[in-house]
Amino acid sequence: MATDNNALQSNFIRNIIAEDFRTNKFGGRVHTRFPPEPNGYLHIGHAKSICLNFGLAAENNGLCNLRFDDTNPVKEEREYVESIIEDVRWLGFDWGDRMYYASDYFDRLYEYAVQLIRMGKAYVCDLSPDEMRQFRGTLTEPGRESPYRNRSVEENLDLFERMRSGEFEDGSRVLRAKIDMASPNLNMRDPVIYRILHAQHHRTGDKWCIYPMYDFTHCLSDSIEGITHSICTLEFEDHRPLYDWFLDELGVYHPQQIEFARLNLTYTVMSKRRLSELVENGYVTGWDDPRMPTISGLRRRGYTPESIRTFCERIGVAKRDSMVDMALLEHCVREDLNRRAKRVMGVLRPLRIVIENYPENQVEEVEAINNPEDPAMGTRKVPFSREIYIEQSDFMEDPPKKFYRLGPGREVRLRYAYYIKCVDVVKDGITGEVVELRCTYDPATKGGYAPDGRKVKGTLHWVSAAHAIQAQVRLYDKLLLMANPASECEGGDFRDCLNPESLVTIPACWVEPSLKEAVPGN
Ligand code: ATP
Ligand code: MG
Repeated sequence: MATDNNALQSNFIRNIIAEDFRTNKFGGRVHTRFPPEPNGYLHIGHAKSICLNFGLAAENNGLCNLRFDDTNPVKEEREYVESIIEDVRWLGFDWGDRMYYASDYFDRLYEYAVQLIRMGKAYVCDLSPDEMRQFRGTLTEPGRESPYRNRSVEENLDLFERMRSGEFEDGSRVLRAKIDMASPNLNMRDPVIYRILHAQHHRTGDKWCIYPMYDFTHCLSDSIEGITHSICTLEFEDHRPLYDWFLDELGVYHPQQIEFARLNLTYTVMSKRRLSELVENGYVTGWDDPRMPTISGLRRRGYTPESIRTFCERIGVAKRDSMVDMALLEHCVREDLNRRAKRVMGVLRPLRIVIENYPENQVEEVEAINNPEDPAMGTRKVPFSREIYIEQSDFMEDPPKKFYRLGPGREVRLRYAYYIKCVDVVKDGITGEVVELRCTYDPATKGGYAPDGRKVKGTLHWVSAAHAIQAQVRLYDKLLLMANPASECEGGDFRDCLNPESLVTIPACWVEPSLKEAVPGN
């Protein structure tokens, strides 16, 4: 189990759990679940829910299940199941032997539905989807009762059994709960609990041609698993009466549903529909493209599980929707990497320097610190020689006052090496572009410090031209131009919202030779 040193801030869910301990509501148990639908990859919003569910369990000596909410056979795939397992593990959480699928409960759910029919609390309805919509009413008008609402229990049992055995076509009939067509809550107006769908399911194959709806499945899955606190996002608040109705009518164990505000991040879309659109149209290279807000994308971008967990703790949990600034997520990873990542030197857009007074063919190794924040990470040797590369942007021929890096006649420090001074600028005869600098070095400044106390303001990174290895570098930026794409991009062409510079590839950069051993993911 992942533990971090973040101080736990109180929030309304922690308060509810503390109160439940006090009143012994669940016999001192805390048992949560994370219930993804396997119809896409997990994103940073899911990370909030994962950290919340697994975190609450861990901090209360409880348990958290991983449950695939796989009631829709059409949109779900094995690939998604596997990616979800990998991502939750990578985030640092463990469900032990409690990995479940809602489809594991299809037999029991069917029995529960039969029980509701027997109780006169569910009926088979033959209205077409269009008619159902018309009968449903609106927020201001009550609905009308279906003409099939008062079928006998026997007829309902018979029809439901025949729905199951495949006698009827998709969409021709449904099983509905018999609640209240005049309820001000539309979810309570005789909601559908089973539909006919002749489709292969990724786990149950063609055993079933009727599938239970989310609201019916979710509360009963929670009940079957003995969940105590069923934590979900705010849009399910209006579904809670239905969650409670099913469990109360069936008289089964009753978990408590608690809603919290979902994570919204600036410059990010989080709906799986939008994310799959990005993938399918080739706007990104896949669900794990480093520009995607998916867990797998963030992983490739260089995010650590620790930084994501810290972020999720810092944003807190509230009852009201809000927008979190992407800069906070980036801050969390910088803070973590600053503490733990090994530094290396690389030059993205190289400018050649020849150090005229440094002996040809001489090579020495300078000692470079792996992480200035953490001496325990040690040092490494970096080769230094007469010809080096620095960043083009670290030189200006006519530098303004505040530019402390290299210019004609100026002296700077090469990090961990020597002071150098620019004595000449070589330009391309035709374009006038600066192609090389001639410099001298001060042998007394080895290690980058002058014994006479002479100070320089600029410190440049560099690589030795003869020793550096070439690398392709990909610079990633925000994928979307709009801070609030969910509203600003809605309706229009999504392509207009994409940042054309979200990926800039530099084919030939130079990096220090220690990176020869690096493997993907380092
Ligand atoms: P989408 O609407 O993008 O398809 P979803 O909510 O349907 O997402 P699920 O796979 O059903 O996706 O979500 C699994 C769990 O993650 C649910 O409990 C859901 O409430 C939670 N979740 C999804 N998105 C967010 C978010 N942005 N912030 C916090 N929790 C989220
Ligand atoms: Mg969902």
